[in-house]
Amino acid sequence: MHFPSKKNDISVALNSFCEDKLSNYSKDRNFDYGQPHNNVSTLSPYINRRIISENEVIRVALKNHKIGKIEKFIQEVFWRTYWRGWLELHPWVYTQVNNVTSQVAIPNKTGIKCFDHWTEELIETGYLHNHARMWYASIWIFTLNKPWVSGANFFKRNLLDWCPASNTLGWRWVAGIQTIGKPYIAKADNIKFFTKNRFHPINQLNEKPMPVRNEPSVREAINFYLPRILNLENQDNVGLVLTKNDLSLDKLFEAKKITFERCIYIEEDKKNSRSEVVNSFEKRIMDETISKTPRVKVFCNYNQLIDWARNYKFNKVIFPYETIGNEILNKRELIEKLKKAQITPIFFMRDWDRHAFPFANKGFFHFKKKIPYLLKLNNLT
Ligand SMILES: Cc1cc2nc3c(=O)[nH]c(=O)nc-3n(C[C@H](O)[C@H](O)[C@H](O)COP(=O)(O)OP(=O)(O)OC[C@H]3O[C@@H](n4cnc5c(N)ncnc54)[C@H](O)[C@@H]3O)c2cc1C
Repeated sequence: MHFPSKKNDISVALNSFCEDKLSNYSKDRNFDYGQPHNNVSTLSPYINRRIISENEVIRVALKNHKIGKIEKFIQEVFWRTYWRGWLELHPWVYTQVNNVTSQVAIPNKTGIKCFDHWTEELIETGYLHNHARMWYASIWIFTLNKPWVSGANFFKRNLLDWCPASNTLGWRWVAGIQTIGKPYIAKADNIKFFTKNRFHPINQLNEKPMPVRNEPSVREAINFYLPRILNLENQDNVGLVLTKNDLSLDKLFEAKKITFERCIYIEEDKKNSRSEVVNSFEKRIMDETISKTPRVKVFCNYNQLIDWARNYKFNKVIFPYETIGNEILNKRELIEKLKKAQITPIFFMRDWDRHAFPFANKGFFHFKKKIPYLLKLNNLT
């Protein structure tokens, strides 16, 4: 399975999915037919880094289809937004996963054919179909009796699209501690049906498990304060720093005709926390972004960044907003250095998130009702 890194190829993938596959998505999306997974978009590694934004994905989808025919797809795109917003409002939940620092071992062969197959697929390609992620997490927790946190960290190491919110909350949801008391139980017949008979782990799965104990107590959402709105039209001579959290923020600035200089900040994987497959995909993506961005500087430490900002005499440097688990530059050391140099750091939140996050304080059912309103606010309908 190949994940392209060239901008043109990614754009072709988005357009051809919307033109050829999207009309069957809602009835077909739950089947895991195996690679190359043509019945789903496989766009998540790009959406994650905002090489293509959620706004663009839905705009292209709506160019080809009536909204009523692709509601399911639109909802799926909003699932990730919802999880990200939910985690912003319940940040302690992520600390629980992130605090586990033990090495992530590759699971031994289990003799459960589908599970062993998905282990290999994930390690080799960096991708698993959504239904396979659900079955895999369920077998991990309820049949193999492994802690959900170690499973979440195994996914973190290997997924090209790893997202702290979707991954943590996806695992919690399967374990039955996100929607309390409603675990997701993988069943042999369901796997047989949705893999079109490729697998049938009959009598191999624990289909009547005991509930997982809920470690952190359920607490109310925090009061989340949206960052200050930056009036882009009034900004001049600012520095914009692209990171893997958002590799297309400069396009938004260009569209608003703002004068700015840009650089790309590449974070080193010091803890060796991601697999070779993930690191080499990310390198290809970064190389492509650098080669397609005129006059861009590339930095990998704070001092280079500050020297650049000083040389240009910026009084503001803008970074993509960093949600929980995605912190790269929102670190005290850098903020203090910038302030000392009389440069104001601004973490810029896109309207997409700004409009949606306040509604992520309850369940997805509640959030889903706001989707038509959110589409309107984002000028998509
Ligand atoms: C245990 C578990 C762990 C997961 N970990 C991640 C993760 O680290 N990163 C991640 O992006 N998604 C994660 N997901 C959600 C989902 O599996 C993937 O987003 C989806 O499989 C990506 O493939 P796709 O682009 O082909 O999806 P499509 O079906 O084509 O969907 C289009 C887009 O909608 C979003 N989306 C779809 N389904 C979901 C979902 N259930 N939750 C959140 N967003 C969704 C993604 O951005 C996706 O690219 C996880 C799900 C589970 C059950």
